[in-house]
Amino acid sequence: MFRYNVHNVNILDVFFPKRCVACGRIGTYFCDACRVKIRPILDNERICPMCGRSAFGGVTHPNCRTRYGIDGLTSFFHYDGPVRKAVKALKYRYVSDLAKEFVGLIRIPEQVGNDSILVPIPLHGIRYRQRGFNQAEVLGRAVAQRLHIPVRTDILRRARATPPQAEIKKREDRIKNMKNSFSIHNSLFLIHNSRIVLFDDVCTTGATLRNAASALKRAGAHHIWAMTIAR
Ligand SMILES: [Zn+2]
Ligand SMILES: [Zn+2]
Repeated sequence: MFRYNVHNVNILDVFFPKRCVACGRIGTYFCDACRVKIRPILDNERICPMCGRSAFGGVTHPNCRTRYGIDGLTSFFHYDGPVRKAVKALKYRYVSDLAKEFVGLIRIPEQVGNDSILVPIPLHGIRYRQRGFNQAEVLGRAVAQRLHIPVRTDILRRARATPPQAEIKKREDRIKNMKNSFSIHNSLFLIHNSRIVLFDDVCTTGATLRNAASALKRAGAHHIWAMTIAR
């Protein structure tokens, strides 16, 4: 397998025809039959990013608010069926068209103002070099384009290598794994542009988002709305 980076033309897109991520049918990444199986998360299915319990519109419960916590969460789709397959496909292969087609299916949330900036959850340097791209950034760029807001990848960094969350079975261990795993750069920019859309591909326990939000808020961010493609 050869590697290519985000800024080059994607050679695989040129030589391989688009296939449905779920059933393999040639034509688009989501064929009509599979597209109807995609389940959007409705307003009354949204959850509080701090406790994981039901919260209308994804706004953090008043009782769950903390100084360095997340203010709300929007996840677009349930993590199953074609959505799960598309997220996995994007993890192992950089396909810009797939990211755009995927993000084209979302309904733009009202909670995000156009004064926000989108910050994708970074991969650790070692994993970034192995993979050649960060799928959260690829999807985040497509989302930011639809929201008409800028993307910054120079603010939030991984402070140390953490084992991939998927390799850790117990929820408590996953949460422990993420503690203090982010560092902040260019914090002056953050103080002057302090409404952040914190973006990741999937929200599982929310620990990654909470830890990143805490680092951003300690450095001066005022408002953080978490956003993920799936949950
Ligand atoms: Zn299909
Ligand atoms: Zn809550």
